[in-house]
Amino acid sequence: MTAKIIDGKEVASKFLDDIKNKVKDAKEKPGLAIVIVGNNPASEIYVGMKEKRANNLGFYVERHNLKEDVKQDDLLKLVDELNQNKKIHGFIVQLPLPKQINEQMIIDFILPHKDVDGFTPVNLGNLVNDDNRLLPATARACMELIKSTGVKLEGKNAVVVGRSKIVGKPVSLLLLQENATVTICHSRTKNLKEHTKNADILVAAVGKADLIKKDMVKPGAIVIDVGINRVAGKIVGDVDFDGIKEVAGHITPVPGGVGPMTIAMLLENTLKAMEMRKGF
Ligand code: NAP
Repeated sequence: MTAKIIDGKEVASKFLDDIKNKVKDAKEKPGLAIVIVGNNPASEIYVGMKEKRANNLGFYVERHNLKEDVKQDDLLKLVDELNQNKKIHGFIVQLPLPKQINEQMIIDFILPHKDVDGFTPVNLGNLVNDDNRLLPATARACMELIKSTGVKLEGKNAVVVGRSKIVGKPVSLLLLQENATVTICHSRTKNLKEHTKNADILVAAVGKADLIKKDMVKPGAIVIDVGINRVAGKIVGDVDFDGIKEVAGHITPVPGGVGPMTIAMLLENTLKAMEMRKGF
């Protein structure tokens, strides 16, 4: 079997076209602010892509670059300003943050209706309540890529490798909403292969190149590779793409899979945040 490639750019383009049309017809521009701290090269690339895409779609975009040694209070002050700023409908603080910053405290300070990353306790709590108003963008991206295959999720075995607050846990809850039977694996899971072999849907969100090998995948499975790893100057995911595409039914490439879709979901969240504000 040769897997069908789930083209993240193609799936994302449908969402981006829809967002563009809505922005064209809107009375105001959706306002997105992006806060970046320090000079992490990977963060620079991700932020650059988000900013470029938002500009292309006609958003109002603000970027705030803060120095690596910024103090917690100064970052909180900026978050407070963005919370109050009427031109900004949603904003993100690009993670990871430097050691002197209490990351959770910064996230807790973002107003939930402006939290377009979906990381605040209120939005994660909403997700537990099956209320999907502002979902974490990467988790939503995984779901849309899975749905693009047309495969019904009800009753299927889904295995998520990784249990982070921003990817693993939210994607597990979204799979559960679709009535899949969900197993969550992590660094203490014994015999990972025993679990992944049973997966009709396998989501790898770890950050370890080649963790998931061909013999760990059920024939015909949908494999969603969230990982971003730099190996010998190349970007690769968590799964052995070349080997697994011989057994899986569908697979996302890295790059070109979850990444572009995540950006589309972030921009959709920003548009949603603007629409939600009208309801206040
Ligand atoms: P994270 O917070 O570091 O979480 C990694 C998870 O993997 C943890 O739950 C960890 O388990 C688990 N893990 C580590 N080693 C493992 C092993 N050997 N077997 C099974 N599980 C293992 O990472 P994250 O923020 O979720 O991100 C995961 C990956 O996705 C990274 O490569 C990141 O760059 C990428 N990412 C991509 C996008 C995108 O847009 N494409 C967005 C976000 C993240 P414990 O909990 O037990 O430590």
